[in-house]
Amino acid sequence: MSLQTKKRACKVMSEPNTSLATSIFINGTDWCLNLTAARRSAITEAVNQSKTLYIDEWNKCIQREPKMRTYRVFKSNFEKETYLSISNIKQRNAMSRFRISAHRLAIEQGRYKRSPIPVDQRYCPHCPVQTVEDEYHFLMEYTKYECKRKIMMTRIEILCNNFKHLPPRDKFIYF
Ligand SMILES: [Zn+2]
Repeated sequence: MSLQTKKRACKVMSEPNTSLATSIFINGTDWCLNLTAARRSAITEAVNQSKTLYIDEWNKCIQREPKMRTYRVFKSNFEKETYLSISNIKQRNAMSRFRISAHRLAIEQGRYKRSPIPVDQRYCPHCPVQTVEDEYHFLMEYTKYECKRKIMMTRIEILCNNFKHLPPRDKFIYF
């Protein structure tokens, strides 16, 4: 062994193992970061899968349940509705109750009778013509509210140009 080789060998043995240190302290950090990223990715994937499963089940539920007949007309996407941002609590509650059929219209009252009334016979007690008193009838047809309805429709027409030309069912969904 030459003198130069011996000197190099002694130097390497007396110094800390920089290669090992590099592996542990620098690459090791990368490894940890990668692991964290992998865990984060796995968690995100699990959350997304759960969300997809939940939305699928939610869709099936609102299509299946008779109680949801109006709700499914209004609600097609699983997202926060704009009306939930109404600052007036009374108005917001009224909108919520209307949309989820938590009210006293005949369509719901008939459901809770000791002998439930068939859906197509839950007539409006206020109108002379036999019409089912559901949310559509209440909002779009009920003669008692004709004046209030006109005021409301006019206000909406000012806000939405096309509203006036929509068919009645689409106007109803607008709410
Ligand atoms: Zn009526």
